[in-house]
Amino acid sequence: MTALLWLRRDLRRADLPALGAAARAAGEDAGVAAVFVVDPEFFEPAGEVRQAWLARTLLALRESYEGRLSLRRGDPVELIPELASAIGATSVHVSRETEPAGAARDARVREQLERHRIAWVETGSPYAVTPGRVVNRQGAGFQVFTPFSWAWRDHGWRAPAEEPEGVRLLHPGGDEDVWRMVTEVAGRPGLPELPEAGEEAALRRWAQFLEHGLADYADHRDRPDLDGTSMMSPYLALGAVHPRTLLFDLASCSGPGATTYATELAWREFYADVLWRHPESLARDLRPQLQGLAYDDDTELRQAWQQGRTGYPIVDAGMRQLLATGWMHNRVRMITASFLTKDLHQWWPAGAAWFEQRLIDADLASNAHGWQWTAGTGTDAAPYFRVFNPVLQGKKFDPDGDYVRRWVPELRHLPGVLAHEPWKSPKGPDQGYPDRIVDHDRERKVTLARYQLAREHA
Ligand code: FAD
Repeated sequence: MTALLWLRRDLRRADLPALGAAARAAGEDAGVAAVFVVDPEFFEPAGEVRQAWLARTLLALRESYEGRLSLRRGDPVELIPELASAIGATSVHVSRETEPAGAARDARVREQLERHRIAWVETGSPYAVTPGRVVNRQGAGFQVFTPFSWAWRDHGWRAPAEEPEGVRLLHPGGDEDVWRMVTEVAGRPGLPELPEAGEEAALRRWAQFLEHGLADYADHRDRPDLDGTSMMSPYLALGAVHPRTLLFDLASCSGPGATTYATELAWREFYADVLWRHPESLARDLRPQLQGLAYDDDTELRQAWQQGRTGYPIVDAGMRQLLATGWMHNRVRMITASFLTKDLHQWWPAGAAWFEQRLIDADLASNAHGWQWTAGTGTDAAPYFRVFNPVLQGKKFDPDGDYVRRWVPELRHLPGVLAHEPWKSPKGPDQGYPDRIVDHDRERKVTLARYQLAREHA
């Protein structure tokens, strides 16, 4: 028998339970055909950098699958049943998708397969614990992170999946054009330097982090000027590595770094769980009492934020890091998101969409709920009255101004923390650096007044 393995957010070969299930279904004499579908609905809206990251991950994945990875381009609802029938597959194997659009698409593919009497088999998911499984004593989900994280640890997870032995990989072919397109996208001129893609690179990066970064992680993770975080998010986003693999390694490490890192992975799992329970939260404030909050809709202000031209150095550094590399430090994501929502009064989905288009680690759940948390509208949100002061945040987390000077060349001549307040220096910024587009103290008051009003009318 032949089995089809449809890869989506699990672009690896190691620790992949769906591959084991496909190999078992295929049996000894038959084979497994692995396929990825470039779905224009997901691919086209992504920016060039994000597209390139996916393309490079696919090229690396082809190596992992000994050159026998099939590619298709189009609507999977048509393509998967077509390919499964063409190769005589009796089952299609996937890791379970729990994001709303992906889950709806899977339901349609499954319906088509049933018509062809082809089985649909879900094994594992992109999470250590599949969304929906962490529940309290009454069987309900969690609204708040800390109790979720305790229950998540108590629930536990499997050990990394063993690679099945002797899998015979099939390659039905007919995909030269799509590979050509992917190769072009991967090597487009003008792309920034990206991390090396693929599962081998992911595991190398992880080994380096365990050796050199984990011990100081708890102290350094909030400092954008230091190389203090793991940079595993771009690999986790596409499943080049599974969180179970990381958690398994962490279990044999001691110290606060390992505990803190596992907690950060728990945030990723929490947000996936919240999204599964509240699919509407991708575009709607979760907190009912803030659903009437007034926002502005100002394209010019949004553009200044997008291009890193707000006149607030830490905000501009973060937005420019995003444009230049497709990644931004977590602390700076919070500062820039707070600035858009609480200083410029724009609704968070506009910022989430900008991030989603550009981040190489774009993840629907972590992004939408990272935004909702910062905006004060989400589950387990930061208190709505907490408005980040971009200057104080900059001075606290980039205490020598190194991060700002790295990404904002107009401020490179300003020493130390002066880089966070160029208006205080007699030299000022180099020409071309904008004046502050809003007055933080004033906008903070506006935000608090709007929150108060929304709560009174809720
Ligand atoms: P590390 O500090 O090394 O953390 C290890 C892993 O833990 C990360 O790779 C990630 O999987 C997980 N993690 C850490 N912090 C968080 C968090 N706050 N929420 C969820 N998971 C976390 N993360 C994404 O992966 N994709 C996104 O699209 C995304 N958008 C965000 C948007 C906003 C507004 C905010 C505030 C945060 C967002 N995050 C997102 C979370 C976080 O910023 C990134 O996961 C982190 O910066 C990735 O870098 P790292 O791998 O070096 O992190």
